[in-house]
Amino acid sequence: MPEIRQRVRPWGGIAALALALFALSCHREPPRPRNVILILVDTLRADRLSAWGYARPTSPNLDAFARESVRFDNARSQSACTFPSANSVLTSRWPAAFLGQPEQAMGIPAGIPSLAEILRSRGFHTVAVSASAVVRKSPSRFNPKGGFDRGFDVFQEDCVWQHADCVNNEAAAHLRRGKKPLFLYLHYIDPHGPYRPPESWRHRFATGTPEKEWVRKGDPNPIGNWLYKGEPNPGLAPGDLQYLKDLYDEEIAYFDSQLAELLGSIRAAGLLDDSLVILASDHGEEFLEHGDIKHCRNLFDTSAHVPLLVRIPGIGGKTVCVGSKQNRFNGRSLRGEIEGSNVPDELQYGLMGELRSVSDGRFKLIQDLGGKPPALFDLKADPGETRNVLPAERRTYARLRDALASWLARNEGKGVADEAREAQKKLRSLGYIE
Ligand SMILES: [Zn+2]
Repeated sequence: MPEIRQRVRPWGGIAALALALFALSCHREPPRPRNVILILVDTLRADRLSAWGYARPTSPNLDAFARESVRFDNARSQSACTFPSANSVLTSRWPAAFLGQPEQAMGIPAGIPSLAEILRSRGFHTVAVSASAVVRKSPSRFNPKGGFDRGFDVFQEDCVWQHADCVNNEAAAHLRRGKKPLFLYLHYIDPHGPYRPPESWRHRFATGTPEKEWVRKGDPNPIGNWLYKGEPNPGLAPGDLQYLKDLYDEEIAYFDSQLAELLGSIRAAGLLDDSLVILASDHGEEFLEHGDIKHCRNLFDTSAHVPLLVRIPGIGGKTVCVGSKQNRFNGRSLRGEIEGSNVPDELQYGLMGELRSVSDGRFKLIQDLGGKPPALFDLKADPGETRNVLPAERRTYARLRDALASWLARNEGKGVADEAREAQKKLRSLGYIE
């Protein structure tokens, strides 16, 4: 195995991922790494991983993978919902590009090139295996139009809502077929609610037997129904919330064991040191830290701070081929950061319903287009985002507010609040959020 130094980068936006892949996959001589494997773990909070400082041993295999990878310590997803976050990863566009599609469509809009299309046009065999009910080829209750399959030779969706071993079995079959170069997109759903790890992974963190059936079954929906649908409080006690968090952690630990299986399959196919392997998540998860449950609700780091790992064998000394087509993308190449040079001072932006956020890594401004007062957080002093420091940090606020206004004007233009409201209504009507 080539020597790969672990590097921790202070931040990185997932939106840049697609462009980074594009940049790295078009080296001229020799074309290495030749395959691209993109692992997207739905609903995976960075702060629940040992590699990100969590005290529980939830992720020994991911931690080992992180030691061989470039780690973006401070990556934030560009939205707090599968739709539109996954679209951004697959197209390198800001989430506004996917809002307001006709007939409640959530997939990759016509006219926006997808990563799979671009790689296929460069000779890649493109395969997706998705356990997500949103990231689909065909319609589902959560995505009435499907539409995420553009550019994929194969889009396997039989593993919907299934555990990681289902995705892994499908992935292993494609890896064994040996078609190269390969772009493999794997979308895992394990940490997403309801939190139901396989029986053999139960009772590692969640101990005892809660009285309430919905708690025992790892179902956070009664809390959501209380918060968002006007139903009575389901009798939530602190121990119930802790039990749900424990089950969530068990889901992560189970996924982690399956990550080792997947890496074993990649290695067995002879591809581990011939592939760019990326692990990312589309958003985090809320456990009432900010008054919300599940996701698709806010832009606090509980929902936005996600892992981003990039394992690149033999990266050094390559010429990057990024031509004028780069301006089709909103993301940018992460190569400068990966190689330790040319670290751009760029901002991270986020969109969720009527909320917009911008962060410079130290501070994060969250603005509500619906008119609620903005809030500024010092992520270094207050990673839990519990204290609004806006009154004391007027200059920082003004700087980030102006940057956000300019981003909004560039990407959304007029009528943005109406569109955001409409998109939120659509998600509600689908039952995707309450
Ligand atoms: Zn998701």
